[in-house]
Amino acid sequence: MQPSLIIHGGAWDIPDEAVDACKSGCLSALRAGWKILKSGGHALDAIEAAIIVLEDDPVFDSGFGSHLTMDGRVECDAIVMDAATLRAGAVAGLRRVKNPIQAARAVLEKCPHMMLISEGAEQFAAAHGVQLCDPRDLISPAEREAWLRCSKDSHAAQNHRGHEQGTVGAVALDQNGHLFAATSTGGTCCKLPGRVGDSPLIGCGCYADSEVGGVSCTGYGEAIMKIVMAKTTVDYLRRPAICVDRTAAQSCSDSAADLAARDAVHLLAKRTHATGGLILLDCHGNPAHAFNTPRMAYGYVAPDGSFFTAV
Ligand code: ASP
Repeated sequence: MQPSLIIHGGAWDIPDEAVDACKSGCLSALRAGWKILKSGGHALDAIEAAIIVLEDDPVFDSGFGSHLTMDGRVECDAIVMDAATLRAGAVAGLRRVKNPIQAARAVLEKCPHMMLISEGAEQFAAAHGVQLCDPRDLISPAEREAWLRCSKDSHAAQNHRGHEQGTVGAVALDQNGHLFAATSTGGTCCKLPGRVGDSPLIGCGCYADSEVGGVSCTGYGEAIMKIVMAKTTVDYLRRPAICVDRTAAQSCSDSAADLAARDAVHLLAKRTHATGGLILLDCHGNPAHAFNTPRMAYGYVAPDGSFFTAV
């Protein structure tokens, strides 16, 4: 099977001055994940490697550089889902984990439950070898300044370099047909302490089913939850493909993936009047994306092995 990888760095009003940083962050994440997939590695290792690069990059709202809560802390959420078993590992409200995706993976692989929160999640992660950090190590200077501006004045998007969101996500398919999807976020800026958005919720911010494909979402979490966007997208992928040219199997499955992505974002706008975006791989590895924000940072590896990134 031909491996495949798609990643995103959030759908938001990415300002011009952040475009290059977002693109190069996406490229580094693709490189990290593809190195593993190309050499026959496992999709779970590839997705973890790609997400770690994005979490460590302060231009994205996950791990280091996450938005701060109203009381000036970072609280991260993450999920990774195995399309074959429909099992997820999810964590929420982490304050001391450098790479939340590693905690999510530990839950997926080693926990009898599918979701852990706050101290319990941190203790479980640490007991399974995940590195904890000082909570202050997750706060980037830019987000600290944004938070200070917000606390002096009222919370405003322009205080956050123009963006309100910027979650990261990835979907990977390896040569043995293992399909995984993942999402990691610092949530929305100036959120109330304890707020959990769509990102770590199975079916909302992430879903994967080996019968059809895997999805990672980004955008206004309270709206994404209303339409259970990732699962809705996967359900759309089950619809029969609309084939213009019935002899062209490739373009046939491409159009089904594109249509599923577009219809899910359309539903988000129609039913909730909110903005967001998503990436997906269908179970054959065809990538698709859609968003209704001014920009989304994303990238994928094309079937010929070339890297494509866009903002
Ligand atoms: N969906 C995330 C949340 O609401 C934010 C984002 O995707 O940018 O926590």
